[in-house]
Amino acid sequence: MLTRLGSTFRLAVCVCALAGAAPARAADQQTRVQHVVDDLKTQLSIAQPVNVAIVEINPKLFSVVPVEHTRATFLLSVEEDFAQGLSEDELRAAVAHELGHVWIFTHFPYLQTEELANEIASRVVSRDSLAPLYDKVWKKVGAD
Ligand SMILES: [Zn+2]
Repeated sequence: MLTRLGSTFRLAVCVCALAGAAPARAADQQTRVQHVVDDLKTQLSIAQPVNVAIVEINPKLFSVVPVEHTRATFLLSVEEDFAQGLSEDELRAAVAHELGHVWIFTHFPYLQTEELANEIASRVVSRDSLAPLYDKVWKKVGAD
């Protein structure tokens, strides 16, 4: 009896480990990314809603656009497979950079540059966490 319980327990642990290793579904990624967006948005004092859409393919991997010309709402589009491959630190760095673009969209003179987006991002994530992320992005999109 004890032995059988023991083996049942081991089997349950094994199934859990497999479930944990399985790729998270798009809905899980949406929740994960939205949570980071909302946290960093608060830290950057960005009042506009930024909604996350998990997409199968995004040539830029992560990108953000105003939903309407008034720039009252933004849509952050994230490639599912890429998001899945990011650690928490890398995800925070990626989101911080995109929120840098949102910040620029909402602040005169609205000059969108990668440098300024990184500067805004570095207010909430360390520059050290931005570097490995860009290595990953460049490997995937082929830029250097
Ligand atoms: Zn950018």
